[in-house]
Order: sequence, then structure tokens, then C-alpha cells
Amino acid sequence: MTSDNGDWLEEAGPRTKAVRAGIRRTAELEHAEPIFTSSSFVFESAEAAAKTFSGEADGNVYSRYTNPTVRTFESRLAAMEEGERAVATASGMSAILALCLTHLRAGDHVLCSQDVFGATVGLFDNTLRKFGVDISFVPLTDLDAWRGAATSKTRLLFLETPSNPLNAIADLAGLAEISRELGAILAVDNCFCTPALQQPLALGADIVTHSATKYLDGQGRVLGGALVGRAELIEPVVAFNRSGGPTMSAFNAWVMLKGLETLDLRMRAHCSTANLLAQWLVTQPAVSAVHYCGLPEHPGHEMARRNQKDFGAVLAFEVSGGQDAAWRFINGTELMSLTANLGDAKTTVVHPASTTHGRLSDEQRQASGIGDGLIRIAVGLEDLEDLQADCERGFASISTA
Ligand SMILES: *Cc1c(COP(=O)(O)O)cnc(C)c1O
Repeated sequence: MTSDNGDWLEEAGPRTKAVRAGIRRTAELEHAEPIFTSSSFVFESAEAAAKTFSGEADGNVYSRYTNPTVRTFESRLAAMEEGERAVATASGMSAILALCLTHLRAGDHVLCSQDVFGATVGLFDNTLRKFGVDISFVPLTDLDAWRGAATSKTRLLFLETPSNPLNAIADLAGLAEISRELGAILAVDNCFCTPALQQPLALGADIVTHSATKYLDGQGRVLGGALVGRAELIEPVVAFNRSGGPTMSAFNAWVMLKGLETLDLRMRAHCSTANLLAQWLVTQPAVSAVHYCGLPEHPGHEMARRNQKDFGAVLAFEVSGGQDAAWRFINGTELMSLTANLGDAKTTVVHPASTTHGRLSDEQRQASGIGDGLIRIAVGLEDLEDLQADCERGFASISTA
């Protein structure tokens, strides 16, 4: 195989990297990236097999170890995050699991933002505790709380920014400083922003985690995940994946590669429509609050401007009348998909209090600001006017109560 990437890649812009990074051509000189749907690979001789198995020679052995299509996805994503190395996994959750099983051991302590994806809380709180790892959950934006909850055993700091669904924004530079003082790993779930909007490694994070299922694919087709960072942190995860096995399939890697090519264009469209929809929602009489970091009055607005190129496409708003009004709104919409997923060309709507945040106690929900009248919209790629018309159907269905 020959690489298409010359020395120019290092200096290339983000859009060029998204289209070109990681391409390796076979002797057929295909233009688009091929899908290598082969579980194993052959050797030209017994000597070559021995050398490849020992690691003395580069080469493919088995797709749980390496697969050329998956390697291309990893190289491209690493270039886009400006990280040294990426490893792809079967899902976003298996990326976080692989990170934990590789870099944590019994007796270690994890500091985690309380505003992270529900399954991440479950993984930390249930599974990792079983193996003797202690967890503290802290408010995302309160640096003193992170400092105060740290112990001499703290090995990992984990967070998402912007938070779901209220768009709280982390002070990544401040957290990186705390993490360095502790000698811990700062891992940032960059699912909501993607490298098109935010590069946490450049802001001081050690590892970026992805649910590639969301914007990286962007069209709701496949599951996938990834970790990106310095080779010394990612190579051990690759080794874990070889024995643990949560690898990405070649087909999914190929779908993701096609997704990455249009990521920058899609994120611009997602963000621009989300921003206009948020501004319009502010003017709606039925809406009592809009939580979107692109609004100048949002408490995270200035920090988002510092960390991000744009404000993302997940927003939340409150209607008065609690769950009844929120459910009426959702049931009155016709265009938006009622699903907890996000990062899709198709706009999605969900009632967090009874779905994504339904496991929380009333007090926990209150503390996290997830009210009964809160509605989350993950803005897709449809026309703004059609989304507004759909919201109007939702508002009309509240007022017929
Ligand atoms: C969806 C999601 C995950 C989990 O990813 P899967 O691909 O569904 O396993 C993790 N973090 C965030 C922020 C997510 O939105």
C-alpha cells in the first residue's frame, strides 16, 4: 500500500485533513477508500508471519488487531484532533470503557463531571466501583469543587463540554492545570463539538473520547467510538483492544470516513440553524428560558467563545406548565424525530426529565437543572423555517390544553 499523505499534511487546514488524511492506496490505485472486510490477513512466508507476529515487521494479522480501513479512519481522526494517535472502537461507550480498563487500577479515584452522558455515569458508578475504583461527581464549571474532591489517588478527570442538555461550558485550561498538578489524565468527551469546533488536546486535555455515532458519522447509520491523544497514552489502549476486543468494524470505519469528509460543512450548517432557532425560541411567548451557549446571555457564552469555533447544535428550552406542557409540545410536533439520539441530519426532540435523565432522583434532577418543562432539540440539517413551523405546531398543542 502507498500513502497519499506527503509532508504537506502536517501544515494542511482542517478541511483538507478531513478529506485526505490517512489515505493509503492498494496496487489497484482506487480513488475512494476501500472497505477491507477481511477478518484475517495472509503472510507471504513463514518468516514473514513470524516477523509480523513478533511486531518486528509492520503488517496486518487479524482485524481485532489492525484493519486497513479502520487504520485510515484512526489516522484521519488523529490528524483532525491534532493528536498523535487515535484508536477506534465499536461504540462511544466502549471507547470510554477501554480508556478506563487500560489506565485505571483498583484503588484509583476518578473525578467526573456530574453532567455527563447517562451511560458514562452508569459505567463509572456501577461497573468501575465493582473493580475497586472510587468515583466523585462534581459540577462541571466549579473548579474549586474539582480541586476539593481530588485525592492523592485521583488518576482520571473526565468531562463533556458543552454539557447535555443545558450547554454548561468547562474551563478546559483551568481543568488541565488541576489535572497536571495531580499527575492525572484529563479526558474530554468531544462528542458535541467534534474537532470541527473544538480541539481539547490543544486546550490541555490528554485524551479526547468520541461517540463517532453522533456527528462524525452524522447521518445516524452506525455506531462507533474513538480515543485520541499522545501515542504513549493510546498505544496501551490498542494493546488492550487486541485482547479485550471492542474494535470498530471495517464497514463502520468506512461509513465514518465518508462522514468525516463533510464534517466541517455539516457542523457549520448545524450551528447556524441552531443559533437562529435559539434566537427565535427566545421570542416565543410559551418559552420561559432557552439554554444555548451561542446566546450572549448564556452563562457559558464567553467560555464557549474561548474554547470553540462555534456553539454547537444541541439546545434546550423550558415551557411553563411542566411535564404536561412539554409532552404536549413534543406530541404536537410532526417533523422532528422523537428520539434521544443527536448529531444527525434529522432534527431530534426529547423530554430529558422522563427519558435521558429519567434515572436521576428528583433532587439530582433539580440540582442538574433538568426541570419537568425542559425540552431538548438537537438541530439537524433541515430548513430553519420548517423547524420553526414544527415548533409552532408544538406550541399550538400546548395552548389547546
Ligand atoms: C452517545 C454518547 C456517548 C455514547 O456513545 P455510543 O456510541 O452510543 O456508545 C457518549 N458520550 C456522549 C456525549 C454521547 O452523546
